[in-house]
Amino acid sequence: MTAPVSFVRDDIRAMTAYHVADVPEGFIKLDAMESPCHPFAGDASLMAQWQETLAQAALNLYPNPAASGLQQALRDAFQIPDAAQIALGNGSDELIQFITLLTAKAGATMLAVEPSFVMYKHNAALFGMNYVGVPLNEDFTLNLPAVLTAIETHNPALVFIAYPNNPTGVCFKREEVEAVIRTAKGIVVVDEAYGAFSHDSFLPQAGSIANLVVMRTVSKIGFAGIRIGYAAGCAKIMNELAKILPPYNMNQLSLATAKFAMRHFDRINANILILKQEREQMLKELSAIGRLKAYPSEANFITLHVPDAQILFETMKQAKILIKKLHGAHPLLEQCVRITVGSPEQNDAVLAVLRRTYSS
Ligand SMILES: *Cc1c(COP(=O)(O)O)cnc(C)c1O
Repeated sequence: MTAPVSFVRDDIRAMTAYHVADVPEGFIKLDAMESPCHPFAGDASLMAQWQETLAQAALNLYPNPAASGLQQALRDAFQIPDAAQIALGNGSDELIQFITLLTAKAGATMLAVEPSFVMYKHNAALFGMNYVGVPLNEDFTLNLPAVLTAIETHNPALVFIAYPNNPTGVCFKREEVEAVIRTAKGIVVVDEAYGAFSHDSFLPQAGSIANLVVMRTVSKIGFAGIRIGYAAGCAKIMNELAKILPPYNMNQLSLATAKFAMRHFDRINANILILKQEREQMLKELSAIGRLKAYPSEANFITLHVPDAQILFETMKQAKILIKKLHGAHPLLEQCVRITVGSPEQNDAVLAVLRRTYSS
């Protein structure tokens, strides 16, 4: 008799699941770029208003993401151009999945740089696309000639550029990304998951460049728990995407929370500003520690090259701090770790371990 599991696609059976770290009690969690605190913490009145908003959410009704008012709230908060059409996703992860599905014709190619967000390549495999990964330079800058050559050689249907990049934190040069968008005939997704922490954005161009889709998320600015991402681009492409997105992919509680958050964006912005200041302070302190190298970051995390990533990971763990070990994920990430920028107290705890480990 054939085992039921043998009917599952062989390529999926050969995959390993995305590992979500399980965090012991009392640990400082700095592995996934989450915000250190609840976005409305410390403001009792705001908290009460939000709870009232949630209490009024229509739990008995299917959500209507298009008519929820969130799209307009996002336009207002982030000055998304009128020319752009917006799609909402259950996290930008879901949008990556459906944009990939949209272009996954037989024989089509996805192109991304490496190392970058692992979900791009994963989705290419999931939907049977060819995948071309172009290595970054050793300092994690874009190897533009190599990228342009690869685009001309493979004519990708879909290009993903994380701007700033994850897991490196480096933001590529704007002119280089413009050259990629200009050269590619297919759709170029500029993934601005960390856009709020960066000096630059392609959001103002959304809707006016035919092959550009700008993708963002509220996950890294305090709302990883509500799973809301959005993409903005020209109607021609976004109309096609709308055909395949599940009609009820968002939930009423998340929609209500996100709308509420956009109305109180000054509060969220204040949190972003604190994290940016903390990042700059950390980079300064890190530059004084001899045996490690911190890469420049425009995100809410810092990538470090250290003498031994595994030992640092274990040492942090003993200090009840969970960080991300990048070593082993890509040759360019040898002996690298990635640490989320947290609260001032959490960052002090990280710096104390680093100083103790590497100042000799
Ligand atoms: C975190 C991250 C995402 C996923 O964000 P969600 O909206 O939480 O799904 C997408 N792209 C990059 C580059 C990220 O780092």
